[in-house]
Amino acid sequence: MDPCVVIIGAGPAGLMAAEALAEAGQRVEIFDAMPSAGRKFLLAGVGGLNLTHGEPFDAFVGRYGARAAVLKPLLREFGADALRAWAAGLGIATFVGSSGRVFPTDMKAAPLLRAWLHRLRALGVRLHMRHRWLGWDEAGALRFDTPQGEIAMEARATVLALGGASWPRLGSDGAWWPWLQARGVELAPLRPSNCGFDVGWSERFRSRHAGEPLKSVAISFEGLRQVGECIVTDGGIEGSLVYATSAALRECIARDGAATFELDLLPHRSLEWVTRELAHPRGPRSLSTHLKTRLHLSGVKAGLLWERVPKDVQADPARFAATIKALPIRVSAPRPIAEAISSAGGVRFEALDDGLMLHALPGVFCAGEMLDWEAPTGGYLLTACFATGRASGLGAVRWLAGSGAGAWHTPRPS
Ligand SMILES: Cc1cc2nc3c(=O)[nH]c(=O)nc-3n(C[C@H](O)[C@H](O)[C@H](O)COP(=O)(O)OP(=O)(O)OC[C@H]3O[C@@H](n4cnc5c(N)ncnc54)[C@H](O)[C@@H]3O)c2cc1C
Repeated sequence: MDPCVVIIGAGPAGLMAAEALAEAGQRVEIFDAMPSAGRKFLLAGVGGLNLTHGEPFDAFVGRYGARAAVLKPLLREFGADALRAWAAGLGIATFVGSSGRVFPTDMKAAPLLRAWLHRLRALGVRLHMRHRWLGWDEAGALRFDTPQGEIAMEARATVLALGGASWPRLGSDGAWWPWLQARGVELAPLRPSNCGFDVGWSERFRSRHAGEPLKSVAISFEGLRQVGECIVTDGGIEGSLVYATSAALRECIARDGAATFELDLLPHRSLEWVTRELAHPRGPRSLSTHLKTRLHLSGVKAGLLWERVPKDVQADPARFAATIKALPIRVSAPRPIAEAISSAGGVRFEALDDGLMLHALPGVFCAGEMLDWEAPTGGYLLTACFATGRASGLGAVRWLAGSGAGAWHTPRPS
C-alpha cells in the first residue's frame, strides 16, 4: 500500500495544503464530510468572490490585528500578489476594484474551484467526500464515518483544515474543538467574527424597517471610523460596516455586557452644515418634512431618529445635529456564530511550530480558519486561509523529509 498524507477538509486551506504536498511528490488523499468540495468558498463567490486585497503589504498585514506578527512571514511567502499569480496560473484573471478589493474578473468562485480541482486530480490528489472525521481512536488512528460505515486509518502525516464554526450547514461545524482539546492542544474558544449584533428595536421600527439598508453612514467605535453600509435586521444590525468593528464590539460586550457605537447618518456633511440646515426656519412644515427637504433624511435613517432621539433633543437644532452626526446605538450581544461570516478563536499559534505542526501531536498540521486569527472582510480571510494552507503543506513536506514517517496503514479509504 502506498504511503499517503491525509488532508481533512476540502476548503481553500486544505486544497492549498494538498497542492503544496502533491507538487512535492507526496501522495495525498483529501477527506471531507460534505458531498462536494469548497462549499463555503462557493458561497463566498455568490456575492462576488473577494479573493484578496490590493493595499500595501504592511497595511494588509495590520488587518490581522494581534495575529499580524505570526501571520506576517506566511503572508510574505504567499500574500496578495502570489495569490493573484496563482489564480492566473489556473486561468483566472483578477482585478483590483475601486475599494482595493481584488476579485476574479467574472466575480465567481466556481470556475476557479473547478480548474483547481482539475489540476489537483492531475497531480494525483484523490478526494473522498462524505467522509466525516470523528477524531482519533485509542490507537491514534483517524476515525471516519463513511457511507460504508466507520473506518480507521493511519497516515504518514495529517493536515487538519476543518474551518471554524460559521455557517455549519456548509461543513465547518467546530466539532473538532473538543477532540483537539482532549489531546492537549491549546485552543481559544470559537467566537463569531464579522457578525451582526442584537439591538432590540421597537416593534414599530422593526416592522417598518427590518431588511432596509443604511447607505452611506459612518460607524465609530473605539477610535475606528469607517464609512460604508449596513442593514437593519429584525433583531439588530449587520453588514460590512458592522463587521468592520465586530471584533472590538464583541470583546466590549464580553467585558462590559453591552457596547455602544455611534452612527453618523450624514458622514459627508459637517456638523456646522447639519446644524445650519436644521435651524433653518421650517414654518408650518413638519419636522419629518424638514428633515427630508433640508437634510435628505428619510426612510430608515429618519426612522432611526424617531426611534432613538428624545423629543427635547429633536427640538434643539444644535443637539439634534450632534446626534445625527453621532447617533448612539447600543448592542447587547453578537449574533450566533452559525450566522457569522467567519469565526475567531481556534488552535492557538503557541500550539504550533513554524510549519504549523501541533507540538502536542507530531505529524498533525493545522491550517485555515480553524487557527486562532481573525480579520475583517475584504479578502483577508481567504488570503490567510491560502497562506496557512500552503505553509502547513510545506511544513508537512519538510517534516516528512526529516521524519522517516511510517507507511500508510489499512484499511484504505473508499
Ligand atoms: C457568506 C460568506 C461569504 C464569504 N465571502 C468571503 C470573501 O468574499 N472573501 C474572503 O476572503 N472570505 C470570505 N468568506 C470567508 C471564507 O469563505 C472562509 O474564511 C474560508 O472558506 C475558510 O476556509 P477553510 O479552508 O479554513 O475552511 P472551510 O472553507 O470552512 O472548509 C473546511 C472544510 O472542512 C470540512 N470539515 C469540517 N469538519 C469536518 C469533519 N469533521 N470531517 C470532515 N470534513 C470536515 C468542511 O466540510 C469544509 O469543507 C465568506 C464566508 C461566508 C460564510
